[in-house]
Amino acid sequence: MTEATRVLVLNSGSSSVKYQLLDMPGGTRLATGLVERIGERSARLVHTPSGGERRERGGPFPDHRAALRAAAEELAADGTGFDSPALAAVGHRVVHGGDRFTGPVRVDDRVIAEIEALVPLAPLHNPGNLEGIRTAGALSPGVPQVAVFDTAFHTTMPEYAWRYAIDVRTADEHRVRRYGAHGTSHAYVSRRTAELLGRAPEDVNVIVLHLGNGCSAAAVAGGRCVDTSMGMTPLEGLVMGTRSGDIDPAVVLHLARNAGMSVDAIDALLNRRSGLLGLCGDNDMREVTRRAGDGDEAARLALDVYAHRLRKYVGAYTAVLGRVDAVAFTAGVGENSAPVRAAALAGLGGLGLVVDPDLNTAPGRGPRFISPQYASVAVAVVPTDEELEIAGQAYDLVST
Ligand code: ADP
Repeated sequence: MTEATRVLVLNSGSSSVKYQLLDMPGGTRLATGLVERIGERSARLVHTPSGGERRERGGPFPDHRAALRAAAEELAADGTGFDSPALAAVGHRVVHGGDRFTGPVRVDDRVIAEIEALVPLAPLHNPGNLEGIRTAGALSPGVPQVAVFDTAFHTTMPEYAWRYAIDVRTADEHRVRRYGAHGTSHAYVSRRTAELLGRAPEDVNVIVLHLGNGCSAAAVAGGRCVDTSMGMTPLEGLVMGTRSGDIDPAVVLHLARNAGMSVDAIDALLNRRSGLLGLCGDNDMREVTRRAGDGDEAARLALDVYAHRLRKYVGAYTAVLGRVDAVAFTAGVGENSAPVRAAALAGLGGLGLVVDPDLNTAPGRGPRFISPQYASVAVAVVPTDEELEIAGQAYDLVST
């Protein structure tokens, strides 16, 4: 009998499905793929088997079922269809698990109903995630479906960290509290950082800075999250590509009352036209740093606002943790932008945080230190791998 060691990881959005097939527990990547613009005439699938030729095909993919069927055909052509006995699980990325899901779960009708009930908290994400769960479940009825929640890692936050200081009854009635996001990445990176330090996760305190299009910080004490910068939604916290991060909530009231802006217009302003984009007109950090280097004032200011917010969070989380063993940079900006890493920790030598300019700018891809030997706190670049983390969690769940 074939041993079931493969995990298909699905990240099913509203109009796209990303997938990866991994062999566990080693984590070897066997294939990656993407179906985009589902429901549109220009829909297409791109499938890349590891070590093989990239294959593309057009739609029509009118819905997720058609998209996943096509993905299943491509995977089957490489030897691992949705009904393959080698498939141990399908691991689904689910953005919002509320305060209910503290870890990965096997999907059943009750789990589906609960994810559905959380749609008001993640209207842009949970419906697409559910679509993927339902469709994959129908296409591979014999294979365990596992939901891995982006919020789960943050459910260990103490109440004084997750509770907003507003009327408790109103907050609880409407499930208003801090949930955080990027949890799968923070879990993976904090553990990998402990490995890099050569220590057990239980023994180290880490500040993880996940800087992609969305940005969030997490304070992780002994492997458990004790605070994170995103809140009820991913809008809170750090300055991001297009989101404002922290802002006085009265700004919303002011714009509604005095600028005549609708709730939807303010939503669009803060989520899609703010952050780096709002400050300088570009949300891609490569472009912002290039412009700043050329002396562009708006880009310079955008970088300064971005870095100042990061420094504040690093300082705050140093206080929250009491003792910090490492600060880890991850995601598109964190892994690639030496100037942002340097600016984020500039002037924090008093906290033991020093970035070595040569190590910071040296080319490298894997986990690595960028702090000098003598520094009391390690600073590291630790590439994230959310798919591997989802595959690992799903595999562990079904094989124990
Ligand atoms: P997402 O949050 O969508 O998962 P990523 O983690 O892939 O995004 O980060 C994407 C962002 O990373 C891009 O918008 C870009 O600003 C930034 N980025 C990617 N490569 C570089 C680079 N070499 N230098 C600076 N920024 C980069």
